[in-house]
Amino acid sequence: MQKKYHFILYIFLLPFFTQGQSIITPFENSDSEASATYFEAISYYKVLANTYNNISIQDIGPTDTDYPLSIVYYSGDKSFDINKWKADGKMILLINNGIHAGEPDGIDACMMLLRDAATAKIKIPSNIVLAVVPVFNIGGCLNRNSYSRANQNGPKEYGFRGNAQNLDLNRDFMKLDSKEARTLVQFMRKLDPNIFIDNHVSDGADYQHIMTLLVTQHNKLGGETGKYMNDSFVPLIYADMKKKGYDLVPYVNDFNATPDKGWREFYDPPRFGSGYAALWQTMAFVPETHMLKPYRQRVAATYQLMRSFIKMAAEHADEIKAARNNDRKKLQDKKEFALSWQVDTTKYTMIPFKGYEAGYKPSKVSGLPRLYYDRRKPYTKQVPFYNHFTGTQKVTAPKAYVIQQGWNDVIDRLKCNGVHMQKLERDTVMYVMAPYIGNFQTLPKPYEKHYLHSKIDYIGLLEPLQFIAGDYIISVNQPAKRYLIESLEPNAPDGFFAWNFFDAVLQQKEYFSDYVFEDTAARIIERVPGIKKMLEEKNKADTNFAKNGAAQLDFIYRHTQYCEPVNMRCPVFRIEY
Ligand SMILES: [Zn+2]
Repeated sequence: MQKKYHFILYIFLLPFFTQGQSIITPFENSDSEASATYFEAISYYKVLANTYNNISIQDIGPTDTDYPLSIVYYSGDKSFDINKWKADGKMILLINNGIHAGEPDGIDACMMLLRDAATAKIKIPSNIVLAVVPVFNIGGCLNRNSYSRANQNGPKEYGFRGNAQNLDLNRDFMKLDSKEARTLVQFMRKLDPNIFIDNHVSDGADYQHIMTLLVTQHNKLGGETGKYMNDSFVPLIYADMKKKGYDLVPYVNDFNATPDKGWREFYDPPRFGSGYAALWQTMAFVPETHMLKPYRQRVAATYQLMRSFIKMAAEHADEIKAARNNDRKKLQDKKEFALSWQVDTTKYTMIPFKGYEAGYKPSKVSGLPRLYYDRRKPYTKQVPFYNHFTGTQKVTAPKAYVIQQGWNDVIDRLKCNGVHMQKLERDTVMYVMAPYIGNFQTLPKPYEKHYLHSKIDYIGLLEPLQFIAGDYIISVNQPAKRYLIESLEPNAPDGFFAWNFFDAVLQQKEYFSDYVFEDTAARIIERVPGIKKMLEEKNKADTNFAKNGAAQLDFIYRHTQYCEPVNMRCPVFRIEY
């Protein structure tokens, strides 16, 4: 049914796309205010792939809609074998479009980019291959409207931010609630791109810049790759764009005040596509065009920025690959990892910012003072950009993690990430560090389908535990090392515990009746002097406790084997050595 529908569209749209010798996009075939629909984009790429043998379009897996996720490749030597690309040392760029379907600049820019690459209108260096997601959020793209980007200046119609499940896909790279994110993550592990680019449109302040660039936080990316990206690659991109008349500026991460006093770099934890890519030593970029600029200008800027990425990646391929290879080797010896990052407000870089003077005037709605930007008063000034972050919540890497069978939602996500796991062949007692959860906070309302936990305290107890055949042992000595630590440590802000995957352990399943347990508890304090002493000390220290019989029974229960061990124990265990 779907295929037939596509075929009909393909036939129907072909005359519109072919004018003379060139295939043109709906964007070009309009007053530059039309963005391609999902069907138009896919049909267009099918025409391209049928016409030019350096382009291929393939389905890579399911989405939350009825339609599969497509990938479009450009390969100058007409080979579409990922393993051969890697063997040949190609620079692989993965470009994602329409993750927020209301921000379609990349969808239209990449349609022109790939056509111009295919026809050799633009030269793609031979060491580059491109993998482009034409439309990532298909459900959002099908939910077409003209209003949901209330502050955005075109196109006339666009998709919606939420996907078919109303999820923000750019928060889904760790929890993988959507099939889109699962499919893309599996594909990313297979493709292993050197560079990941995720095209967006900004919100927030008004200023002169058409294109802003959010870069995955360089200290967090770390190693030689983080340093090379920040010190060399990003300045190269800025310089190349400048030659084409674009003054880039870091993503203006300031939503409450005017940006003329500078701002802090956006922090992208691994729930974001860029933050996720950084777990795999991939340089990641999030171009954010300015939402108040005309659509034509935004698409043109996105097109030019993609070209700059291609040019600089080709010219500096050796440095990029060397930094990444070195980091990957060092990763296996790396002991200490930070789970969170905080801005260092003592360090900043002065950057040129082209803004508009801001002021306040009475609101015609409320009569209260309202912010406005005066475009008749442009300015350029140096502002501080706080882009140095320091790691916090440091943990040491274990030798391996153990996950008991049954936690299939987690095991499944590890498999999506290509994690190597070994099943225990026979029942085994192992000395492991077991994390017992203490205090934590939980959001009062759902965030992206979850009651996210934060500020998670736990006590790790080294103890012998019985594991059974079929439980999983996961050595960290694999490329997924950093992903494993940031997903499996119980207090990791984007880990599986935080995202509710282990909430079942937070509820106690068994308890006791006081009148029966009285006799058992009496026997325990008779036979176990240590517990008797602890009870006496607690009674002395806490007069309310001393007057509460039920509390004392509970105290004994919790200090003996009667208390169920799995309650409050995060079922991810560390083998320390
Ligand atoms: Zn966005």
